[in-house]
Amino acid sequence: MAEEANPFESLQEQIDDAAAYLDVDADVIERLKHPERVLETNLTVELDDGSLGRFRAFRSQFNGDRGPYKGGIRYHPGVSRDEVKALSGWMAYKTAIVGIPYGGGKGGIVVDPKEHSEDELERLTRAFATELRPLIGEDRDIPAPDVNTGQREMNWIKDTYETLENTTAPGVITGKAIESGGSAGRVEATGRSTMLTAREAFDYLGRDVSDATVAVQGYGNAGWIAANLLEEQDATVVAVSDSSGAIYAEAGLDTQAVRDHKDETGSVVDFEGAEEEFSGEELLTLDVDLLVPAALENAIDEELAREVEADVIVEAANGPLTPDADEVLTERDVHVFPDILANAGGVTVSYFEWVQNRQRFYWDEERVNEELESVIVNAFEELVEAYESHDVPNFRTAAYVVAIGRVAQAFEESGVFP
Ligand code: NAD
Repeated sequence: MAEEANPFESLQEQIDDAAAYLDVDADVIERLKHPERVLETNLTVELDDGSLGRFRAFRSQFNGDRGPYKGGIRYHPGVSRDEVKALSGWMAYKTAIVGIPYGGGKGGIVVDPKEHSEDELERLTRAFATELRPLIGEDRDIPAPDVNTGQREMNWIKDTYETLENTTAPGVITGKAIESGGSAGRVEATGRSTMLTAREAFDYLGRDVSDATVAVQGYGNAGWIAANLLEEQDATVVAVSDSSGAIYAEAGLDTQAVRDHKDETGSVVDFEGAEEEFSGEELLTLDVDLLVPAALENAIDEELAREVEADVIVEAANGPLTPDADEVLTERDVHVFPDILANAGGVTVSYFEWVQNRQRFYWDEERVNEELESVIVNAFEELVEAYESHDVPNFRTAAYVVAIGRVAQAFEESGVFP
């Protein structure tokens, strides 16, 4: 995986690309390229052996013009200030393109959770939640899960916040377990929006996703659900990968069986039903109809982009293509359907979770999935309309044209304080 592209610079380039097609003041565009504030903190946590661990952590609040900041918290050794800033910006434009009333935020801790016990992770999470307390709140900033965090961490954050505030506030965080105020359908939501985007994309291109062969990079929450739901649409998932390697079967993999194998062994490799195994990088250049990057950012750089054989890319991960790769793929007529739409299911169902928390009234999974489908299909139609009416080079620029237009309008309507 290429590491050299700075994700924050990638975000700023994407904004500049779209700004050229928008009638928005240059000063306003400049404002929309930077976070409003970033918390950087050093968390001190007692480790199980009695020693003290120190962990850098960040929370970036990118833009609050359309509503409370919203975005996940990531635990990964590669977390950096610029990565968190970029991810918070992508959140601001993601919430705008799907039209939900939030701004963008993102957080992360520089940690490899595999190296820590559950007790250590709980102390670390509660230490971070304590630092975040003045910044977050149901109407202020609402974190959620991201890479290597899930319901467990969200519940710890909720409990810490509620204990310190002496209140109940389930809407302070989303992605909780159902019993703690989570929403039906939240766990599957990101992969579901990826599948829906792929389905709509193939339809728009005059093709049928059920005839497509698919490769999925990354078999975590987003990737495995996307693979599973694409298989449900009768697409043939021929290859999947994780950080240990890739597996391939020409007739298609049984995505549930691969998931069970990963749960048992920790990886997709050595799966019985696979015909071949190769490196994760090779998966990205397979001759398939649809490629779904669902791991981390910068998975495809300029060089790899020249070798991509897929006709369509639907981005489940945030920022999986470098800007140079984007340019190459546009030149090569590979249709890329961008992250800020394709993985927006997570934040959309987070929004539904928050709505249910505020109303103390809960929906069944069928309603959640129906509401999600209507949000994603509407957003897809608006994206296509922008693509066709603005003469933009690709769907990503079209998505930013829609999203930046909405954030800029909210800012301009509110004016500057003081
Ligand atoms: P996860 O931790 O559940 O899964 C990540 C997967 O990627 C793991 O299977 C890991 O082994 C794999 N991976 C890591 N490096 C790899 C490599 N070099 N090659 C192949 N596979 C590799 O994380 P997730 O929640 O599925 O998130 C994945 C991406 O989706 C991230 O970019 C995240 O920001 C984005 N995303 C997730 C959600 C969500 O709700 N989970 C929402 C929006 C966006």
